[in-house]
Amino acid sequence: MVVNLRKYSGTVVFNTASPIWKPEMDYQPVVKRFESSSGVTVFRLPLLAFPKHVTNCYLVMDEAVTLIDCASGWGDSNESLERCFQQLQDDFGQSVALKDVQRLIITHGHVDHYGGIPYVLEHAKASVGIHALDRSVVSNFAERLIVASKDVEVFLHRTGTSAKKIAELLLLYKWSKERYTSSPIDFEIEEGPLPDSPFVVYHTPGHCPGQICLRLDDLLFTADHVLERITPHQSPESITRNTGLGHYLDALAKIRLLDGIRLGLGGHEAEIPNVYERIDATMGFHRQRLDKTLACCQEPGPLKDIAIGLFGKREGYHILLALLETGAHLEYLYDRGAVVVDNYQDIEDDAHPVLRYRPA
Ligand SMILES: [Zn+2]
Ligand SMILES: [Zn+2]
Repeated sequence: MVVNLRKYSGTVVFNTASPIWKPEMDYQPVVKRFESSSGVTVFRLPLLAFPKHVTNCYLVMDEAVTLIDCASGWGDSNESLERCFQQLQDDFGQSVALKDVQRLIITHGHVDHYGGIPYVLEHAKASVGIHALDRSVVSNFAERLIVASKDVEVFLHRTGTSAKKIAELLLLYKWSKERYTSSPIDFEIEEGPLPDSPFVVYHTPGHCPGQICLRLDDLLFTADHVLERITPHQSPESITRNTGLGHYLDALAKIRLLDGIRLGLGGHEAEIPNVYERIDATMGFHRQRLDKTLACCQEPGPLKDIAIGLFGKREGYHILLALLETGAHLEYLYDRGAVVVDNYQDIEDDAHPVLRYRPA
């Protein structure tokens, strides 16, 4: 995507109270039936991945029954999966059970989408697939978590966050360490038609390195790439390659070029009646947030202060989310020369420097 650097000069006035997450206000998480243009039936299964956090999984009733995502496997997640299958029988007259699932496609390596793999495999002889760039998050869970946490630590030091707060945030980051183990992956999902299936795969890195969207006729399973109301969380590529706002915006532009998508089916929230408009709105939202990020460093400051400027004071895990989201935007501007490190002369001999940013 072409970046207009002139856009990032000058002061912008904005409201700093914009939330990272908008609550799912009027979305009713109920099982819902959809049909593709060639007549393939799809059921949306809204699972309670975490308290107040619904992940939509989809059951695709093709020759091979495919489940797209399986939520967290934690708390009420598996129970809500069972309830959804019961509802398919009771309310939709479908004689399908979890044991009938032959293929499990994981849209990306976030635990609210793949954590339920062990439960599905306990009940079904399904083969499990994910994009290569997210494979080892699932199959080599502990190693990836610990190594990534070291990069998060470096990132947090540079933000100006205190050592005490960093220790707290790292504990939150590693919340899943004791709760999850690795799961086997049977096949890697690549760009293009998925063999022996009605799906066409689009790799859409940014929110997650191996994020994919799946096309089924005129339906697009957008996973966490495009959502009905919220904008998916971003974090800097300096922590995990193939994340970052640059990849994300490029991948939005890629999906925007697809012809004939009638309906988007996201990993959270309700269906998306106009995917194209939603992509435009999401791009516009990030352009605005880039402007705000630039405005927040008019006075040279560390990332943590810029995050407070963008999101206000946050608590607990939301501090980490705000720092990562700010980091993604600041990195995007820095990589494109729109901001620079103001104190570079002071940090040359410092092994753990705090970087202070200002507009170029
Ligand atoms: Zn996600
Ligand atoms: Zn998600």
